[in-house]
Amino acid sequence: MNEKLTGGPAEKKESAPRVRFAPSPTGHLHIGTARTALFNWLFARRYGGRFILRVEDTDRARSTKAFEDSIIESLQWLGLNWDEGPDIGGEFGPYRQSERLKIYKEYAEQLLKDGVAYYCYCSQRELENERKRALDEGRMSMYGGRCRNLTVAERRLHELADNPKVIRFNVQKHNSSKIKYNDLIKGEISISPEVVGDFIIMKADSMPTYNFAAVVDDLTMSITHVLRGDDHITNSVRQIMLYNALRKPAPTYGHFSMILGSDKAKLSKRHGATSITEYRDRGYLPEAIINYLSLLSWSAGTEKEIFSLKELAEEFSIERVSKSPAIFDQGKLDWFNGRWLRELPAAVLAERITPFIAVAGYNVEEFDMEAIAMAIQSNLTTLAEAPAYARIFLEEVKYTPEVSEELDTDKAKEVIREIWERLEAAEEIDIDSAKTILKETVAVMKTKGIKGRDIYHPLRLALTGETSGPELFFVINALGRRRAVACLRRLLDGN
Ligand code: GLU
Repeated sequence: MNEKLTGGPAEKKESAPRVRFAPSPTGHLHIGTARTALFNWLFARRYGGRFILRVEDTDRARSTKAFEDSIIESLQWLGLNWDEGPDIGGEFGPYRQSERLKIYKEYAEQLLKDGVAYYCYCSQRELENERKRALDEGRMSMYGGRCRNLTVAERRLHELADNPKVIRFNVQKHNSSKIKYNDLIKGEISISPEVVGDFIIMKADSMPTYNFAAVVDDLTMSITHVLRGDDHITNSVRQIMLYNALRKPAPTYGHFSMILGSDKAKLSKRHGATSITEYRDRGYLPEAIINYLSLLSWSAGTEKEIFSLKELAEEFSIERVSKSPAIFDQGKLDWFNGRWLRELPAAVLAERITPFIAVAGYNVEEFDMEAIAMAIQSNLTTLAEAPAYARIFLEEVKYTPEVSEELDTDKAKEVIREIWERLEAAEEIDIDSAKTILKETVAVMKTKGIKGRDIYHPLRLALTGETSGPELFFVINALGRRRAVACLRRLLDGN
């Protein structure tokens, strides 16, 4: 093999792992693919290695820059940073396959020269007929090898006719015995080369196929471990064959089991949101998604369930990744989201609910978002629920006729007047002063024989128009002194 190939494998043998996440920018980041990114990231961080982002955009018809940007944004949102990638470069770049065409071409030419690859001129129609025949005869359909041994004259004829051509890999040339490898997750995998037809490595448009580009890239980027979904197991076998032909050692492979929906079918749109952007827009926290995805196929071997990304990076081990498929449980993700929402400091929660409240049409500038965040924090399962729970603080309070009637009693008015006076006299309100005012109101009311529910119920109705909701000190704090005073005053004035 010619060692002077462009971007040839780095000779320096690093012991630290180099792993890559290699999305095709043909859609948003899928939740299952995000797990692949997460586990690669964790593997790199846990073992002091490097995490590389490579964009596999050789499917020119389906790849878009917008999807690439979206994937990058989702990875950043999840907190999965990379050490080398198309946006930041690195020693082994470029990191976008469409910018590496020269490298694939050189490697393909080398395989042609070594006699392990050949030009194939078969037309689509011929291939289709071959497929149909195999199907009719109940045989497995694979390329029959018509162009494998073309004579020089036959090739010349095709060239003269300018027939479109692809480059195929001569599978059996270098792979006569069973291909075996030890999968880090699945254990030993073996496959007989006879079931693999001579597959295409370079397409008619001179673009590499996925398997070929992945091998050239993993090789030239010195990737040590390839960790991906088990839908790639058959690809891994093909890729190992290519390494054999290139006389280079293959990286270590590990394949994660699929994530299935509750009906045991592969997770898809049918099961609800599938992309990270959708989850973000539905008000899920990156912390919760990371935590849930990690436990979907990995366990620490303890009872511990709540893990931050940092903790995961310290505790992750590939040995504890499960072999069996994972069932995606929306309810469990909701539970994690609620848990993580309650962990957030009020100021951070305020920042995160603000866009959702703005999108719901409220002018967020007018309100104390942190106070609102504190009031609704324990109710939230997702950020998207924030506008509904916060509505009582964002809109002028409205009373149904029944509520107005309930508030229009001497007893209720006495309570309202008492608290109004204290709020009116207060400086700015915070949680502590709201608690004090409530306590004092209760104490005074007690002397007048009004207690318990007869105090809290009319107060809640007066301030929110609702019969239930957050603790009253949260309500007062979230409304703010000025708005609480105004609404109580209106009631006392009988409007
Ligand atoms: N671009 C491939 C995909 O998105 C990457 C597979 C791999 O990790 O090699 O499925």
